[in-house]
Amino acid sequence: MFDPSSSPVDECPFCAIAAAHPPYDPRRPPASLAADLTTPSSFVVLSTPLLVAFLDIMPLSPGHLLLCPRPHRPKLTDATPAEARALGAYVRVLSAALARATGVDDWNVVQNNGAAASQVVPHVHYHLIPRPEIRASGRLSESFTMFGKGRREELDDDDAERLAAAIRSEAAAVLLAEERQQQRPDRDNRDDHGDDDDDEAKHGRSRRKTKL
Ligand SMILES: [Zn+2]
Repeated sequence: MFDPSSSPVDECPFCAIAAAHPPYDPRRPPASLAADLTTPSSFVVLSTPLLVAFLDIMPLSPGHLLLCPRPHRPKLTDATPAEARALGAYVRVLSAALARATGVDDWNVVQNNGAAASQVVPHVHYHLIPRPEIRASGRLSESFTMFGKGRREELDDDDAERLAAAIRSEAAAVLLAEERQQQRPDRDNRDDHGDDDDDEAKHGRSRRKTKL
């Protein structure tokens, strides 16, 4: 897929993660994935033909993850249209999975392009960062202290492995629920939303009657 003699790719930590983790069906994720295929360890939460996502090794909060195209693309504008569509779709899927896996309902999505814009690794990536700090005044604060409060700390391997498995599993649940929703007949979808216009269209006959 890429020329290993090309130094930017060869030295790219995200390309190394992509190369070490072949794609799997995200609707049926593996229960466990080896983390030691790369140095440092990588905790993959998604691996498709187009994308790879994994926990940030220096997280701002538990669950802080990075989503990127599988091939080496320096900036967002270097991604192909298909990769861009997949990134957009999975920013939403992984956001939902992250909230479910961490129990934290507030998060940031951050995407930097170029050194002047604080991009550190020159392989385009979205940061998804849960923000438990927002709730820190409440009784939930104690459970979020293990990674520090907003400081970047090293990932604990056991915690990271559990969290990555939970995110993979929640992402599958999101995708399967989405699939079931799409397979339902239109009529059922419309009923769920209680849309007045749709109701009128369905009950056109009685509506015409009342108009007479
Ligand atoms: Zn790369």
